[in-house]
Amino acid sequence: MRIEILNTGTELLLGNTLNTHGSWFGRELFNMGLRVARQSTVPDGEAIRQAFEEMVMRSDALLITGGLGPTSDDLTREIVAESLGLELHQDEQALRTLESFFALRGKPMVAANLKQAMVPTGADVLPNPNGTAPGLYLPPRINRRSNCAIFLLPGPPRELYPMFHNEVAPRLRAISGVAEVTSVCELKFTGIGESDFHHGIDDELAALKGLEYGYCARMGEVDLRLIGKDEVISTARDLVLEKFSECLISDDGSSLEATVVRLLRGKGKKLATAESCTGGLIANRLTNVPGSSEVFTHGWVTYANEAKIDQLHVPADLLITHGAVSEEVARAMADGALQESGADYAISVTGIAGPSGGTEDKPVGTAWLGLAIQGKQTQTQKVFHPRNRKDFKQAVSQSALNLLRLALRNFKS
Ligand code: AMP
Ligand code: MG
Repeated sequence: MRIEILNTGTELLLGNTLNTHGSWFGRELFNMGLRVARQSTVPDGEAIRQAFEEMVMRSDALLITGGLGPTSDDLTREIVAESLGLELHQDEQALRTLESFFALRGKPMVAANLKQAMVPTGADVLPNPNGTAPGLYLPPRINRRSNCAIFLLPGPPRELYPMFHNEVAPRLRAISGVAEVTSVCELKFTGIGESDFHHGIDDELAALKGLEYGYCARMGEVDLRLIGKDEVISTARDLVLEKFSECLISDDGSSLEATVVRLLRGKGKKLATAESCTGGLIANRLTNVPGSSEVFTHGWVTYANEAKIDQLHVPADLLITHGAVSEEVARAMADGALQESGADYAISVTGIAGPSGGTEDKPVGTAWLGLAIQGKQTQTQKVFHPRNRKDFKQAVSQSALNLLRLALRNFKS
């Protein structure tokens, strides 16, 4: 079944309103075993006509959002009726619902609202308990020109979402007759690139019948999406993990920081952070995770040398001899944080975000990580993420959290 989405609204194309309907519909329909074939966005007004006329010819179902309001640029209802050669008539029930909507709120209904009770002949009115604009459903073959099921839906999410669940989903289910709902499994990886998957596993995944898969690269992360029946997903998952289990963050959509918190909780261990170049981002990411208070004790942001010396007891001569961005200082920061906090794990980062301050030895993007663990030798790692400041911070925090994840994963008490 081919489903298309048409989002209308000038604000969506000016960039002041983020078009969230596309991703929302995508998820909702996928959960019903359906897919969005194409999504288009057009400004308010006449532009809707051409988009509608193209889309209605090639789709089995068309979901249109926006433009059902009372103002002069809300033309969806009128354009759709005209394109299909349908008369608009005032629907008594819709009119009464509108009147009671205003009466309940003690507000007068203005004449402009009257057009919201206009209904194309043969269409169903979809009640909107959360706003004035009722939705409309034009079933396939409402006239000879279209075989498409057409839904006209309000733009505001709080009106759209309930209407979709109550009115649209049951109709789509009946039309599509989908019985077999496929599953999806999202595996998140870090420390590995898309091309590694391509070389390492792509052919084997491609050979699995009934499996649909795809990659999505994010900052310091690659998601592998597996879609199909449970059995084929499980086979694919095993194939991938045989090769790349070290790099797996999660198989349930959990973030890297959530995985670190889960591992710490599972092992009953506490963590402190000592950050320089990431400015507290690691602590921020960790504390975004519910339950982090059980495992996170201290987060230092020691940006200046004096702060590293005063707070973390980094020896001044290390800073002079090796510089703030060095293996020695990263190690001393982690050791200091472990000692001061009394935690079991302490992670440190120190790096050069740029744009200035780089040298030949230590170019912009260089960072050193330190990981101190009670009773073990402190580890260090050099990473290189030459990016803008914001992305550099994100990438360094990702490397640091991954160092922690690997240490916790391989932890033997
Ligand atoms: P409407 O009057 O039905 O065109 O909808 C207007 C309001 O709905 C706008 O102010 C937006 O905040 C919201 N809206 C409309 N379309 C979208 C969309 N595609 N994504 C997110 N919000 C939207
Ligand atoms: Mg609008």
